[in-house]
Amino acid sequence: MRYLLALDQGTTSSRAIAFDERGQVAALAQREFAQHFPQPGWVEHDAGEIWATQLAVARECVQKLAIARSGQAQRAIAIEAIGITNQRETTVLWERATGQPVARAIVWQDRRTTARCDRLWRQGKAGLIQRKTGLVLDAYFSATKLEWLLEQVPGARARAEAGELAFGTVDSWLIWQLTQGRVHATDPSNAARTLLMNIHTLDWDDELLALFHIPRAVLPRIVPSSGLLGEAAPEWLGAAVPIAGVAGDQQAATFGQACFAPGMAKNTYGTGCFMLMNTGTQAVASRNRLLTTVGWQGPVEAARQRTAYCLEGSVFMAGATVQWLRDGLQMIRSAPEIEALAASVPDTGDVHLVPAFAGLGAPDWDGRARGTLVGLTRGSTRAHIARAALEAIALQSADLFGAMVRDAGIQLTELRVDGGASRNDLLMQMQADLLGVPVVRPRVTETTALGAAYLAGLATGVWSGADEIAAQWAVDRRFEPQLAEPARRARVARWREAVARARGWAKK
Ligand code: ADP
Repeated sequence: MRYLLALDQGTTSSRAIAFDERGQVAALAQREFAQHFPQPGWVEHDAGEIWATQLAVARECVQKLAIARSGQAQRAIAIEAIGITNQRETTVLWERATGQPVARAIVWQDRRTTARCDRLWRQGKAGLIQRKTGLVLDAYFSATKLEWLLEQVPGARARAEAGELAFGTVDSWLIWQLTQGRVHATDPSNAARTLLMNIHTLDWDDELLALFHIPRAVLPRIVPSSGLLGEAAPEWLGAAVPIAGVAGDQQAATFGQACFAPGMAKNTYGTGCFMLMNTGTQAVASRNRLLTTVGWQGPVEAARQRTAYCLEGSVFMAGATVQWLRDGLQMIRSAPEIEALAASVPDTGDVHLVPAFAGLGAPDWDGRARGTLVGLTRGSTRAHIARAALEAIALQSADLFGAMVRDAGIQLTELRVDGGASRNDLLMQMQADLLGVPVVRPRVTETTALGAAYLAGLATGVWSGADEIAAQWAVDRRFEPQLAEPARRARVARWREAVARARGWAKK
């Protein structure tokens, strides 16, 4: 049996999962690390701690695998290759000479560069940026974070221009550490989130570099998501291990869900929802302010290193709505309890919860929208509210799905799902009903890590190609839509009325 080691570096924890060649989890280790909030709206990570926890879980995972296979921690089991997947957009700047970060990493959630983005909007740069990068100009992405570091860290700009500093998203940072500074690289799915790469040429873009004042000397090389890019030094895992797969977390999950053909889509139900749809070799520009992004570049579509593009949209409050019912309203004690409570009533009694606690994302994009509960009567109970909360997750996802179908002009035939809240059968049935297409939950729901393992395994011959992987992907449960089309449309229309009442509420 051959094994791949997926390093899954997330926003709150570092994980390592060993997969066998059947795509099954063979061992897993996980460690949380500190979140730093030095000022309101700022979020930072210690890049040294990211590396330390990632290395620790990689070692622990390899040991667990050895114990599971041979009964002995000392007997190392050979790992074919490492695949990396990571929190996206988070920005690290370090010294090439020492491998030491020059400041804490600025996390994707960090809003410190909002005013800078507003200025660029006023200067009319958003259109150019969207055409080249597929992204909406926003503080979320790396460019203004890196620009901020180069301006605010004493001496950083001069040192960057002199070639002394290296920039990277978390994938690059881990590759640098794993290879002890031999490789400074990233893949197009991560580079696509920086605002600095042209997604049509897959190269750093001089006009964008000039706009954000980024010297080329700090940038990593862009290499395919699937392919040999270097070797982890022997001292880390007991032997040199090839690094052969890299992708941002959502793209890796799309790959792990085997969404290889245009029109295939996945939705991850975590704190928020992330929906990605493969649009093939075509970068589809969105008219609904979805993001256009690189899915992966790799050997999947023949051996020509072809690029798969995706449309991406997110729901800010998904599982977080369930957390609010648990912690804010104390209506349930644990998240899974919501299912039985919601199932205790046949419908919401026309009660709607619009969880716009932090505004609304695509397709509404209304920062002033706020949470709204409408349609209450004397007969309304907590069960109706719980059911409305689950429906709100499904309805927001249905809005995104509708926007993707309109943008891509492709009718989707099913939605593949994963993430913590996808375990909720009632929610998944609601989702199928409100989309009018089947919702399919796979057996292996560690899709993010699995995607990284697949990318690495394809490059090292563990798997022959996309067909072999697609054949491994196995269904746990398929939820068929049970609502007639007119009824489905009426439900979505009623939801849109509720959304209209939530919009524009906040004064500031
Ligand atoms: P993340 O990766 O964003 O931390 P997870 O994939 O671990 O999220 O999923 C956790 C989220 O899913 C939480 O917000 C939680 O409220 C929600 N959740 C977990 N189980 C259920 C369930 N059975 N029904 C509804 N929501 C759930």
